[in-house]
Amino acid sequence: MSKDYEVIVIGGGPAGYVAAIRCAQLGMKTACIEKWIDPQDKPALGGTCLNVGCIPSKALLESSEIYHRAQHDFAAHGLKIDKVSMDIGQMQKRRREVVGALTGGIQGLFKANGIDWLQGTGCIEDTGKVSLKEHGKSRKKNLTCEKIIIASGSVPVNIEVAPFDGDRIVDSSGALEFDSVPERLGVIGAGYIGVELGSVWSRLGSEVVLLEALDSFMPIADEQIAREALKQFRKQGLDIRLQSRVVSAKVKGKKVEVKYNAENEEHTETFDRLIVAVGRRPYTESLFSGNARIELDEKGFVSVNEKFRTSLPDVYAVGDVVGNPMLAHKGMEEGIAVAEILAGQKPQVDHATIPSVVYTAPEIAWVGKTEQQLKKEGREYRSGSIPFAANGRAKALGQQDGLVKILADSKTDEILGAHMIGPYVSELVQEIVVAMSYRASSEDIARIIHGHPTLSETVHEAALAVDGRPIHFAPPRKRK
Ligand code: FAD
Ligand code: NAD
Repeated sequence: MSKDYEVIVIGGGPAGYVAAIRCAQLGMKTACIEKWIDPQDKPALGGTCLNVGCIPSKALLESSEIYHRAQHDFAAHGLKIDKVSMDIGQMQKRRREVVGALTGGIQGLFKANGIDWLQGTGCIEDTGKVSLKEHGKSRKKNLTCEKIIIASGSVPVNIEVAPFDGDRIVDSSGALEFDSVPERLGVIGAGYIGVELGSVWSRLGSEVVLLEALDSFMPIADEQIAREALKQFRKQGLDIRLQSRVVSAKVKGKKVEVKYNAENEEHTETFDRLIVAVGRRPYTESLFSGNARIELDEKGFVSVNEKFRTSLPDVYAVGDVVGNPMLAHKGMEEGIAVAEILAGQKPQVDHATIPSVVYTAPEIAWVGKTEQQLKKEGREYRSGSIPFAANGRAKALGQQDGLVKILADSKTDEILGAHMIGPYVSELVQEIVVAMSYRASSEDIARIIHGHPTLSETVHEAALAVDGRPIHFAPPRKRK
């Protein structure tokens, strides 16, 4: 008897929907099971990223940044606005429209590629066997297939000391939905979500306090960049408190009382809302029936080999559910690769050149090794840094805080990493991703013509600086 599908993908987030599209492009009969129901009670594709992650957070970051600039920057351009006021209902409506357009777009792509979207919860019964529990139905449908791809993603970590109540103590999804600006907003965790959503509400007028357990800020970033970011964020009014471990959070009427330990003392703060943003964990609930034993690692990630195979034959896994970094573009690339593997091709995902971006203002972006990693490895490297203050376009934009730093091997000059903070570095970092993918040297970038006046000239100058010869920046003179 023939199988229902060649491939069933479980999860329609960036890893899953991309895997499904690539499978269909390669001629496989493909279905994608996705259970997401949006706040309007409508099934939706796109997973965390499109519905409650990358996209809605960037929509609010944009709206809040424009609001902030209208208040603080327009006058310098000679633009006078009597009073800038905010319509948060409209801002949230726009966010929902941006999300709706994109999730609807994926539905369109599925149709165009002949992919069946099966709405409901998928469960792996065994190799080649998946059951589907459709929304609102109690009986399960049994489906057969040649291969299964798990792309079930991740969910926010809930901590015992500050349990979500969906109203006053919320996760990142709840923090996107506030219908008014909290006067005082607490955030537990000063990682990606803490600083991005903290920035949104701070720009809109909240007094934001971030409580971070670690003694260093953003330790995954290059130390110099993280220091600069901390300085900039504090200047903007984000009250970032390091070495601050929350011990309890209790809702008291319309407030949240938070107790935390810092410098061996207990402190208490009262907030109108509290966001808990202490990381995400792999999501595998109701994904396996008793017969389907799949190996998970000690943190609950699905274990896969370099070909994304799990411990169960013909079952593969990609995206957040297989491990860090939990980034949409990493999941998408794995989605493409797994489809090509199923088609007998030999793709590779280069995990060493996955860019990271924090969409604050200024933005932070990096790829490759940090200086602290290179020092730890005992690798000899040269470094070239250029501030955006030396860039004409940044000056014209009025956004000249920050810098670009390139790190290259001392002997071979191969680029080992690049670290940036400043305007649109989310776009600039991509040049270095391409360069590193081709194992380019800093001299290669130094010899490439960059348009003028563009922000990318800062990347060019940083490459020249690796060799001590930047043109538009005079490094401090060395003493003779
Ligand atoms: P997910 O997007 O989590 O999708 C998994 C899907 O599987 C979900 O839709 C879920 O409903 C479905 N599913 C799970 N189990 C089943 C089942 N049994 N049956 C049917 N369906 C199932 N990353 C970036 O790269 N850039 C950013 O700017 C960025 N911003 C973010 C902002 C926020 C606030 C958050 C929370 C995350 C952000 N991320 C960002 C991370 C990004 O969202 C994730 O890395 C990405 O969504 C992971 O994709 P995925 O497909 O692996 O999983
Ligand atoms: P994160 O890992 O970036 O940051 C969590 C922070 O919380 C860390 O600094 C950690 O030290 C701190 N922390 C943990 N437990 C704590 C406690 N009990 N008290 C105080 N601090 C504590 O996680 P996140 O911000 O929740 O984001 C989750 C993931 O989503 C990210 O790791 C990233 O992969 C993804 N994401 C990416 C982007 C982007 O690409 N721009 C944006 C948002 C989210």
